[in-house]
Amino acid sequence: MAVSEFSVIARYFADVGAARPDVELGVGDDAALLTPPSGHDLAVGICSLAEGSHFPPLTPPAILARQGFAVALSHLAASAADPAWLTLSLSMRDIDEGWLGAYSSGLDQVARDFGVRLVGGDTTAGHLCVTLHAHGFVPTGQAPDARGIRPGHLVYLTGILGKFQQSDGKSLPLSGGTWSSPSEPPIAQGLALRGIASGACSTTGGLAHSLGRLLEISETGASLNASALPLAPALKANLAADGNWALPLNQAWDTALCFTLPPQRREELARRFTHLPARCTCIGRVEATQGLRCRLSDGTELAAMNS
Ligand code: ADP
Ligand code: MG
Repeated sequence: MAVSEFSVIARYFADVGAARPDVELGVGDDAALLTPPSGHDLAVGICSLAEGSHFPPLTPPAILARQGFAVALSHLAASAADPAWLTLSLSMRDIDEGWLGAYSSGLDQVARDFGVRLVGGDTTAGHLCVTLHAHGFVPTGQAPDARGIRPGHLVYLTGILGKFQQSDGKSLPLSGGTWSSPSEPPIAQGLALRGIASGACSTTGGLAHSLGRLLEISETGASLNASALPLAPALKANLAADGNWALPLNQAWDTALCFTLPPQRREELARRFTHLPARCTCIGRVEATQGLRCRLSDGTELAAMNS
């Protein structure tokens, strides 16, 4: 993409997102030069979306921008980080100015909403694939860290599972359809976890998968109460029709946060969430026995938790 790469970058990527005083040099030079605040850890989250694997051809570029942004930021949220900078790796077959314009303005809008600046990237020729790296800060020592999860800690979920999925309630993201509405990054929910949550994960890989990984790291297990899971109407309807829990438990591309909390932090958590629009639901408890178990209210254990 040698001929017009520079004009493409200048036109579509030089001024995306909010202006920030901590960006010494952004897009245009070689490496970006950035000033992280002292006393903070840098959190980095990534989302790669490849045509044909994660989204169907002709997905509107603005939707793609918002979805990639939401997923990358949801990883920051799981570290209770404040988002600051983005980098973008873009490969596309040909320079398609219509696509670039729509992607760039979609990303600009959502990045401004969250005070985030696009500070660099790379642009190459190839199959359509968009990778966003999000960078943010969390005061040192205040990020949830799965190594601190202990038996007896409570398991919580923010938001609602399946809120952002196709109207058929079945097949995200590849099904020949497109995302009807992209996810919202749970940044405010993540900030509310600072200093109190023992571990946290975004559910972009599916609840069972993401929580399962947290529990593996801490060498613990958990029991979930299936009837406590907050489900979107489409998921509820689906469940009523076929009784199959695999979908709510394994659905990818949700940006709800799952986290664990020492029980003595319960009141502090409730206080912090009273100021937030998102709900926060206790869905289970950490146990010493490894593995993830999920029970219905009558005590029946569900099989096949992980995809
Ligand atoms: P070249 O590949 O020709 O050496 P670079 O890859 O160094 O050019 O890109 C030049 C500048 O443009 C760098 O600051 C880089 O971070 C930025 N850049 C390139 N592609 C993108 C992109 N898709 N989004 C944001 N910035 C980009
Ligand atoms: Mg390059």
